[in-house]
Amino acid sequence: MSLLTVGTVAFDDIETPFGRAEKVIGGACTYIAWTASYFTDKIFVVSVVGDDFPQHELDNLTERGVNLDGLEIVQGEKSFFWAGKYHINMNTRDTLDTQLNVLANFNPVVPEAAKNARYVMLGNLTPEIQMGVLDQMTEKPRLVVLDTMNFWMDIAMDSLKKVLKRVDVLTINDEEARQLSGEYSLVKAWQVIRGMGPKYLVIKKGEHGALLFHEEKIFFAPALPLAEVFDPTGAGDTFAGGFIGYLASTDDISFENMKRAIIYGSAMASFCVEKFSLDRLRNLTVPEISDRMSAFVNLVDFKLPR
Ligand code: AMP
Repeated sequence: MSLLTVGTVAFDDIETPFGRAEKVIGGACTYIAWTASYFTDKIFVVSVVGDDFPQHELDNLTERGVNLDGLEIVQGEKSFFWAGKYHINMNTRDTLDTQLNVLANFNPVVPEAAKNARYVMLGNLTPEIQMGVLDQMTEKPRLVVLDTMNFWMDIAMDSLKKVLKRVDVLTINDEEARQLSGEYSLVKAWQVIRGMGPKYLVIKKGEHGALLFHEEKIFFAPALPLAEVFDPTGAGDTFAGGFIGYLASTDDISFENMKRAIIYGSAMASFCVEKFSLDRLRNLTVPEISDRMSAFVNLVDFKLPR
């Protein structure tokens, strides 16, 4: 099934306890598109870069079947830039710099062929742009998933709340769920957030897994314990790409299938963190992904005594 995704396509400077990487490829949309390309081949990207973004990186995405007709290249301007530094536990990070550059004046244009996409992934970027994409859809999508972060809650909470009214699934981390809802308990946070629009809430908790809320139901997916987490950048976007990619490929949005989608998202995120930037996502194989899924199944497989 067709999948439309919007989000940043960016350069990142990353500092972790294991090293530094400067001006590496990043961006929410980049991670989402790469990850979803392992599940479905009808992916449309809507985003913007400057003329500093390497053409071969765009070609790599096209080769994976990702349609870039909705990716604008602005001559004479710079791509979105983000710099972050991870703390020793790798679960928390500080944003050191965010330069919107081309994103500041971006008017998204959804290609004609993508206007009836059944699955829409509103990746992390300006809430107005997320709304602008939804406004251009000619048919109501089967599922709209939105990812965002504290940066947008700090500067654009009103616009974010407007777009949330039109979203089926919201994916945020635990701190962001607390910021959005004003509640510390994540169960109470869900009660507040469901009143804002989303029918499902996924709370990402880094190395502590993810929670899926729907009505009164809660499902928990662990994160795979890894010996080494090299760079967590993009794990949330990779999770979102695996989640919606799997749902689009199966075209089944039942709660049962969403549970599987959460595990696929977690499995893909577990690859992402093994190397800097997108490096681990560039040439995964289907058997590698299947093996990782089995590792997740084994991790939580137990039986009660009779
Ligand atoms: P994640 O680690 O999944 O939260 O995503 C990290 C990616 O998000 C990086 O590659 C950044 O380029 C991108 N990013 C950082 N800040 C923002 C922001 N405010 N809006 C959109 N994308 C961002």
